[in-house]
Amino acid sequence: MQRYSVFALVRQAMGWHQGWERAWRSPEPQAAYDAVIVGGGGHGLATAYYLAKNHGMRRVAVLEKGWIGGGNTGRNTTIIRSNYLQDPSAAIYEKARSLYETLSQDLNYNVMFSPRGVMMLAQTQHEVRGYRRTAQANALQGVATEFIGPARVKELCPIIHVSGPRYPVLGALWQPRGGTARHDAVAWSYARGASDLGVDIIQNCAVTGIDVEGGRVTGVQTTRGPIRCGKLGVVVAGHSGVLAGMAGFRLPIESTALQALVSEPIKPCMDVVVMANTVHGYMSQSDKGEMVIGGGADGRNDYTQRGSFSHVEETLRALIETFPMLSRLKMLRWWGGIVDMTGDRSPIISKAPVEGMFLNCGWGTGGFKAIPGSGWAMAELMAKGHSPLASAFGLERFREGRFVDESVAAGVAH
Ligand SMILES: Cc1cc2nc3c(=O)[nH]c(=O)nc-3n(C[C@H](O)[C@H](O)[C@H](O)COP(=O)(O)OP(=O)(O)OC[C@H]3O[C@@H](n4cnc5c(N)ncnc54)[C@H](O)[C@@H]3O)c2cc1C
Repeated sequence: MQRYSVFALVRQAMGWHQGWERAWRSPEPQAAYDAVIVGGGGHGLATAYYLAKNHGMRRVAVLEKGWIGGGNTGRNTTIIRSNYLQDPSAAIYEKARSLYETLSQDLNYNVMFSPRGVMMLAQTQHEVRGYRRTAQANALQGVATEFIGPARVKELCPIIHVSGPRYPVLGALWQPRGGTARHDAVAWSYARGASDLGVDIIQNCAVTGIDVEGGRVTGVQTTRGPIRCGKLGVVVAGHSGVLAGMAGFRLPIESTALQALVSEPIKPCMDVVVMANTVHGYMSQSDKGEMVIGGGADGRNDYTQRGSFSHVEETLRALIETFPMLSRLKMLRWWGGIVDMTGDRSPIISKAPVEGMFLNCGWGTGGFKAIPGSGWAMAELMAKGHSPLASAFGLERFREGRFVDESVAAGVAH
């Protein structure tokens, strides 16, 4: 792999930038692989990368029906945090957050990780109690967060109106090392790293069927022909139910659209991420100056990757009391992605009912932040049959009633 560095940049500049290699190979699919990953989002690509890097598996393919990162990975609002309530959640999200800290160096690709701090506003007494409790839980888990008062909120984010009539800001759960990263770059960096280790990344290749013989997965049917595999990882976010149906079982998942929007670019006015979960809205400012805004998930199930006028109006109306400056901003564009929601708002990283098949899904509205930790755990599960990071997130928890309830930390928030 051609390494990226300031020297490489200077060398290439002298040759009019004609000598750059492609970041990842685009091979024809082979007839068989040791492991096939369906889904070229961040989670699928990270899984393939760690299968090769941590477990030495080289005959691995990632099959993506469109282009890599074209699903939720390239549509999300990029918030990274690990301030969850339950221990298994804090463990995997904190693993992911800590991998993000050095991801650019590890993968030799600038993912623009920006640990600018994330605050979750408490705008009701109920939230104050909830976030104080989460701060205590985080202290026990070794995750650095604190509950801060309204004066500190105002100091960290001067554009917030803290004494609104309906939703005054009573405090916030503050994670100083939370932040954002560039979403496409996360997908591209894992693709480049995986390809360099021998993983075949095959785009425009939709899986249309899953071959099962004697209760064991043997391969997949695709729009580019059949591919045999020893192990199959299904990492397709909002389409998990569709893929499970191909293998003959159902998942406790609902697919629904989640929308976001950005404003016209303006001068820097906000250098933290703010989430206001009572009113269903959150905001950060991108490096280009656009205000990146998101709201709650749509209240119905569908597979439409589109935004809607009603959502723009609802989200902005909710946020305007807390951010009055929004009333004078023009919105540039909005979009949607299909997220996969579980009942307890925690992911599924699990063996499937079909032998040799593994599932990674259910990240709902908040899986971008988890990509490195999720890929790490999923690769370990696929390679060894067990992963400590994933053990609480098995499918059997829905049958046994062992939920990892994150409805406060993840139900609305991202
Ligand atoms: C608007 C919005 C805002 C969000 N904000 C945040 C946030 O701020 N922070 C956060 O942590 N998370 C956020 N999320 C959630 C986050 O984006 C997702 O949890 C995460 O990106 C899921 O990644 P993935 O790799 O599992 O799925 P995806 O990126 O969706 O990748 C799955 C891939 O599978 C492919 N696929 C599907 N079916 C097939 C098939 N049959 N054959 C081959 N390929 C197939 C798809 O084309 C897709 O590329 C947000 C999501 C949205 C939509």
